[in-house]
Amino acid sequence: RLDIRNVSKSFDVDGRRLDVLSHVSFDVAPGGFVSIVGPSGCGKSTLLRLILGVDGDYQGDILLNGERISKPALSRGVVFQDHRLLPWLTLQQNVALSLENSGWSQEEKEKAVAEHIALVGLQGFEQAFPHQLSGGMAQRGAIARGLANRPDILLLDEPLGALDALTRLRLQGELQRIWRAEGVTMILVTHDVDEAIFLSDEVIVMNAKPGRVAERIVVELDGERDRGSAAFAA
Ligand code: ATP
Ligand code: MG
Repeated sequence: RLDIRNVSKSFDVDGRRLDVLSHVSFDVAPGGFVSIVGPSGCGKSTLLRLILGVDGDYQGDILLNGERISKPALSRGVVFQDHRLLPWLTLQQNVALSLENSGWSQEEKEKAVAEHIALVGLQGFEQAFPHQLSGGMAQRGAIARGLANRPDILLLDEPLGALDALTRLRLQGELQRIWRAEGVTMILVTHDVDEAIFLSDEVIVMNAKPGRVAERIVVELDGERDRGSAAFAA
């Protein structure tokens, strides 16, 4: 499980201290789906970066299965608002890139790449370059890349924010299906409160100042959610 305990983070900006996160605490059960909402600048992306491990300079503890996170690891995948696929690589090569440090055999890597491209419905586009994909397809590719190394946790920073309404709706359904199919823990940052409630078990609301958790809302609409998805699929 993921335990975020009393986490504070500040930046030095021109010699002045900018407090961004202040005593943030919450936990996420294995296989859970938690959304984080809050005003622009409240520290959501900063918090995801800490969980990802790309910034180990923080106070408090972020524990994944009891171990303090301080550097990136294969156990966490990430998807950003802009797909960040490398333009000079094909979809297949982009997804494979996330497996470079996996230590897996070539065969295992190829299997994982093919499986995850299929998981997001992009079979047939393996050799396409990012500019040949639509925005929604590129985001699917980014999700495949985030999941290819079979992480315990997928961190999503406004992954659907740049998409049109219909594509967003489709990908919300996709995210939910993938979450169920893969059993992966998901942490989603979004500006869309409806999306947060529709997709997650729990919504963390953050305050602008001083960057703390203002509220944790448990979303209990399992049956409703299933009916909603079924209606959409039909
Ligand atoms: P948004 O919803 O707009 O994406 P956010 O909640 O993700 O906002 P962050 O990107 O986490 O907000 O930024 C929080 C604050 O931290 C902002 O005031 C930002 O300027 C500051 N900040 C983030 N990264 C750095 C950095 N590397 N150096 C200095 N300040 C930073
Ligand atoms: Mg952000």
